[in-house]
Amino acid sequence: MDLKGFERLGPCHWRLAPRGAMRVPVEIFADEALLQAMDDKVREQAANVATLPGIVRASYAMPDAHWGYGFPIGGVAAFDPDEGGVVSAGGVGFDVSCGVRCLLTGLPVEAILEVQEPLAEALFAAIPAGVGSTGQIRLSDAEMDAMLRGGARWAVAQGYGEAADLERIEEHGCMAGADPKAVSAQAKKRQREEMGTLGSGNHYLEVQRVAEIYDEATAAAFGLACDQVVVSIHCGSRGLGHQIGTEYLKEMALAAKSYGIVLPDRELACAPITSSVGQRYLGAMRAAINCALANRQILTHLTRRVFAQFFPGVALPLLYDVSHNTCKVETHEVDGRRRSLYVHRKGATRAFGPGHPELPEALRAVGQPVLIGGSMGTASYVLVGTRESEALAFSSACHGAGRAMSRQQALKRWQGREVVEALARRGVIVRSPSFRGVAEEAPEAYKDVSAVVDAADRAGLARKVAKLVPLVCIKG
Ligand code: 5GP
Ligand code: MN
Ligand code: MN
Repeated sequence: MDLKGFERLGPCHWRLAPRGAMRVPVEIFADEALLQAMDDKVREQAANVATLPGIVRASYAMPDAHWGYGFPIGGVAAFDPDEGGVVSAGGVGFDVSCGVRCLLTGLPVEAILEVQEPLAEALFAAIPAGVGSTGQIRLSDAEMDAMLRGGARWAVAQGYGEAADLERIEEHGCMAGADPKAVSAQAKKRQREEMGTLGSGNHYLEVQRVAEIYDEATAAAFGLACDQVVVSIHCGSRGLGHQIGTEYLKEMALAAKSYGIVLPDRELACAPITSSVGQRYLGAMRAAINCALANRQILTHLTRRVFAQFFPGVALPLLYDVSHNTCKVETHEVDGRRRSLYVHRKGATRAFGPGHPELPEALRAVGQPVLIGGSMGTASYVLVGTRESEALAFSSACHGAGRAMSRQQALKRWQGREVVEALARRGVIVRSPSFRGVAEEAPEAYKDVSAVVDAADRAGLARKVAKLVPLVCIKG
């Protein structure tokens, strides 16, 4: 990216003053090298977002930002309904409420190494993965609506997991304001057989070793210790979320004009928060959040069943579950005033600092765990939210390494089978139904996650707590 026009606010904080139709500045969090390597499109897309009605403070991009549909992936934007603020399906992303949860095993790495191969096989057999993969659960129409209203709370009531899990999930496992009636029959049909499935591509279930601790006190509060093992699950709302995104994008693109909204790019399709389509989208999007929370809860149950075969009596308590494709109503202080804002995070993780009332009691004094994927061959990270992140970017941080190259480019460069073999030689067992998918997801197709996380840490968006490295990766 061309750095011309940027004002440097800090070592990892850059500002582009408003120009033309921009209502607010663009702010990007990255060190100089990351910013230089960043897609030019991020600057253009973040500037486009800055033109939307009712946007508050700035249009933000996280250090892992890259090109997305309309809004950049790694983008954060908050809108005020009292100032004509909008909601945008493209600002949430197609995989609504895609997110990561992390389970603690308390097991030392040696215990896993003894069973690494059969454990990988058992997980691969138990966790439905891949394009169009189906699960064991079939929901009737009434059950579907109950799931869409209840989220992980519904899943726990069905016997998937424990009530104690709910405290460790955003919104206590159940997103309020979900409206199953705003979800089309087609979206529900696509989801009918997909509950409890991982999906494809970038989604994964990973058994990971805690390789390094940066903050002993916070790690201890999180239950993380060096050379112990955790399990991370990354997936979202499957076919249902995708269908909702597709349908509402179309509807918002048609509606925007009638609300007098001028779009610099068709893909920015949005509608006033207070409009009929805006309200219906919010109801559907919240139902999709519940779908994702229920999905990760069911996958957690399946994972625990597999671990119980190998390690009887070992519980896998939930450290935390956080989504990175959402629009949420949050109270933030802007210009000395507490305001209720619609915060879009697309490929960005909420990162509440210590003392936030939404956090479970056990974590409130410490801050929210921020769960960051890297790739199947590099590190992933656990960070913690900070107080200053609220003033920086409405309490947000990065969500991954971010792609450095497109899937097509990656396919030209690597063979899936070779990627699996190379990782096996380094002690990482990858199991996937698709070698093509593995090639698209080759570790080198992603940016350097350590640089991204360091930038988030140095900018103050969140602080590093622990580094995780993969032992087993079930890839969609
Ligand atoms: P996204 O939600 O944008 O699809 O992906 C989030 C992040 O997950 C990516 O930016 C990437 O860094 C990370 N990621 C993708 N595949 C894997 C994987 O197999 N294992 C781990 N640990 N991280 C991954
Ligand atoms: Mn996803
Ligand atoms: Mn994701």
